[in-house]
Amino acid sequence: MTGRDARELVPVNGQCIHRCVRPDWMALRRSAADAGFDLVAISAYRSFERQLRIWNEKARAERAVLNDAGEALDISALAPRDQLHAILRFSALPGASRHHWGTDVDVIDASATPDNYQVQLVEAECCANGPFAPLHAWLDERINSHRAYGFYRPYIAQKVYGEGIAAEPWHLSHRPVAQRFEILCSYQNMLAFYSALQDLELKTVLLENFEQIYRDYICADSSAQNPVSV
Ligand SMILES: [Zn+2]
Repeated sequence: MTGRDARELVPVNGQCIHRCVRPDWMALRRSAADAGFDLVAISAYRSFERQLRIWNEKARAERAVLNDAGEALDISALAPRDQLHAILRFSALPGASRHHWGTDVDVIDASATPDNYQVQLVEAECCANGPFAPLHAWLDERINSHRAYGFYRPYIAQKVYGEGIAAEPWHLSHRPVAQRFEILCSYQNMLAFYSALQDLELKTVLLENFEQIYRDYICADSSAQNPVSV
């Protein structure tokens, strides 16, 4: 659940996913190929250690923290509680990332851009004239008609400006397997996990605000019945 057990993972195109998700992922890729898209996961499973490193670097101002406009924030000028929210807007807490489960992927259409294109994973790439807009229109149609092999977008339904997790149209989740993990992410489980966790920057302010953080960022999938996270 918290990205520290890799036994159920299998490799797919340079990434790792849960072995139970692989058949549906390959089926979705084949359907996409038939429609003219090269559906590629540029990020899938992420370990706890990797997420912890990203988190701590952001909290120490060693890695950029962006605002909604994509501009770098001076995190050291913010109060600890505001630092926490600024990082959580685009980064999951280590241990509370859906990417820890191997059920979630960040996707692009690799055939839509030149080889030297730097993917940014921003909304502008996914809508209007963005290079991945046709893929996402196709995915919308598949998801809405329940022909996406169990994949859906966990963040799209709860777009909130300023607070909460940003909408991430590129982030797909395999609902049948992800639900097994969602059930484990109860308030008590997550509170016990963070209370015992060492080496986490902003741990004190996290625990002081845990009820709100849990509701807005860990139990944040409004389209599901159960708690979920980024
Ligand atoms: Zn993602």
